[in-house]
Amino acid sequence: MKTLVHGGRVIDPASGIDSKLNVLIEDGRIAAVCPGEPPADRRVDAAGKVVCPGFVDIHVHEDPVDSSGRLYDDPDRSVFSCMLRMGVTTVVGGNCGANVWDPGDYLDIVDRDGAFVNVAMLAGHGYFRTLAGAADDYAPASDEQVRAMADGIRRALDRGCAGASFGIRYAPGMDKRELLAAMAPLRGTGKPAACHLRDDAAAVLDALAEFADAAGSLGVPAQVSHIGSMAGFGQMEAFLAAVDARRASGQDIACDCYPYDAFSTGLGSATYDDGWLERYGCGYDALELCEGAYKGRRCTEEIFRKERAAFPSCRTVCHVMRPEEVEKALLHPGVMLASDATMHLGQGHPRAAGTFPRLIARYVQPGKLSLYDAVAKMTYLPAMRYGLKGKGALRPGADGDIVIFDPERIRDTATFADPIRPPEGVDMVLIGGAPAAKDGHILAPALGRSVRV
Ligand SMILES: [Zn+2]
Repeated sequence: MKTLVHGGRVIDPASGIDSKLNVLIEDGRIAAVCPGEPPADRRVDAAGKVVCPGFVDIHVHEDPVDSSGRLYDDPDRSVFSCMLRMGVTTVVGGNCGANVWDPGDYLDIVDRDGAFVNVAMLAGHGYFRTLAGAADDYAPASDEQVRAMADGIRRALDRGCAGASFGIRYAPGMDKRELLAAMAPLRGTGKPAACHLRDDAAAVLDALAEFADAAGSLGVPAQVSHIGSMAGFGQMEAFLAAVDARRASGQDIACDCYPYDAFSTGLGSATYDDGWLERYGCGYDALELCEGAYKGRRCTEEIFRKERAAFPSCRTVCHVMRPEEVEKALLHPGVMLASDATMHLGQGHPRAAGTFPRLIARYVQPGKLSLYDAVAKMTYLPAMRYGLKGKGALRPGADGDIVIFDPERIRDTATFADPIRPPEGVDMVLIGGAPAAKDGHILAPALGRSVRV
């Protein structure tokens, strides 16, 4: 099967290409990027549109697996379907230390059943910590438990996980001994450690040092997650300078960020332990509940206390980051785009359905960021970061994962009230050369496969 995507403006930062060219896909892979029009079985007209590698989202919280071992596949409410509709063709799940299922088995399930998008996984330290019997997030783990975590992470890496993730914020009992031991399986593999830092706002620089020093001492690439929600409260300049200084001294460290000024986490999480109002300099009304009796409402102290006790898993959105700080992060050359998507039965944060179009609508269209640089932040840089073979590039031999969009019209439409609404201007998404989504509608729900590293 040969597919020719013709007449579009091809942008492929991996090959340094930005010009009007045609892309030939043969048997699922890119066969040629050329000015001519080779014969094909299927022709996709991309005139007036941008043609680039399918977007790669390296910070996703994956869809659940049910008790019979089947991947959640509701086309209207799953994270992965939101991803596909906005042009993402490959995700990296298992972030912030969390896995919903054994990450190695998860990759097998994706290969068995297919998924809306291609899926790579990180081994979540928190998942293996719980499995090792360290039930108290606030207490140190025993040496034996730490050994069990490291073994679990090592096995997951052997099965093709692209790295490991740490949610120090969610397991504050973790000490340096545990962090180093759990990170040690990454040593020498070239696979990164991703981290939701221990603390944010005024404490973010110390938290960065804790993680970056640990990764640096083992020679493990460090990926600092969703920095807008870590340093977007007035610390971004100092935070980026600290990361830049580490890069300049030779450390392999990078960051990702999502383009929203509100974060999302569970109501029961340590983020909302005593002191959070002072930390963010906000009131209870900054906090919006996304589920339950108070869905869509801002909190009062009374609602906060009542719901946190009664419904700790309730999804929340906290409107506290400064927009200019988030912008500073996204425009920085060392920062790539990633959504931190999370979705529970269609409820969550609009970043799951809007992040990638939003970068173009908010930063490229008004002239703050070049389209070429934006595409690099969405394709080549994230794919490179995790060594995702065949992804994030249109060079011959790469996978035929492509997004075609209208650069003038593309925009996110998902809101906090309607977080899964698909974007506008994403014309066509191809996975392995086959049409997977068109104009916000899913054409093929199971083209995605595991991406193992
Ligand atoms: Zn996180």
